Parts: sequence; C-alpha cells; structure tokens
Amino acid sequence: MFTSRMDDALTEARAAATRGEVPVGAVLCDPAGRVVAADGNRTRELSDPTAHAEILVIRAACAAAGSERLPGYRLWVTLEPCPMCAAAIAAARIAVLYYGAPDPRMGGVAHGARVFDHPQCHHRPEVYEGIAAGAAQSLLRGFFAARR
Ligand SMILES: [Zn+2]
Repeated sequence: MFTSRMDDALTEARAAATRGEVPVGAVLCDPAGRVVAADGNRTRELSDPTAHAEILVIRAACAAAGSERLPGYRLWVTLEPCPMCAAAIAAARIAVLYYGAPDPRMGGVAHGARVFDHPQCHHRPEVYEGIAAGAAQSLLRGFFAARR
C-alpha cells in the first residue's frame, strides 16, 4: 500500500528550523514501505556542509542495511535536492524520489546541474515533484524572513 511520508518529512523540516537549521526534512522508506531513517538539515550543528537531510538519511539507511546501495527504497524530501544530494541519491540507487518545493537557486534535479539528466548519471530514480510544495515553501520563507 502506498503511504505518503511527506508529512513526516515536513515534521523533520520544522524540527530543523527550531535547531536554527535551514528547514529541510527527509524520510527514507525501505522496499516494504517501512520508515528506516528520518532527519532534517544539521549542517550548523555538525559543522558539516554535507549534512543535508538527504545525506543524513541515506547514511543512516545504508548503515542499517549494511550496504552502499538502497535499491527499491523511496526518498521523501521537502525541497528539491541540491546537486550533491542528487548525486548521492543516484549513487545509492534509490528507486523513487518525491520532493516538495522546487528550488530554482540551489536545486540540482529540475534546475541547475539537472544531475539525473546528465549522461554521466548511471541511475535515474523515478521523480515526483510538487508534493505538499506549499507547506515546504512557506516553512522556508518563514525561516528566512525571520533571519533577515
Ligand atoms: Zn543537498
């Protein structure tokens, strides 16, 4: 049965905002649909520019699976992944990517590098965009408005 995990990803994004991080959240499900990892951005907390929500859940799921690849897994992210995360998604062989808001500035899926459309990309997940995009976008807008 298909269950949307975007609400869970949004919960992670809100938690990231309360930590002072850019509010992006991600949830990774195994082929059976079980949630195996959920997290939000932690670049400031970990002093790590690669600690995006997507990278953190991929690391956690790979560690749990004892594998560098996650075939059949589905990833939910509140914002269009950046090129770094898109490359990691391809490397992990994730089957399906669902994301919320488009990111014309930093995105690497439908914008910019368009990593999955590149001839050097060996694995292209199924991609569904615009899921709960309004909620994800207003979270981001609120976060950056409060910082200004
Ligand atoms: Zn990223």
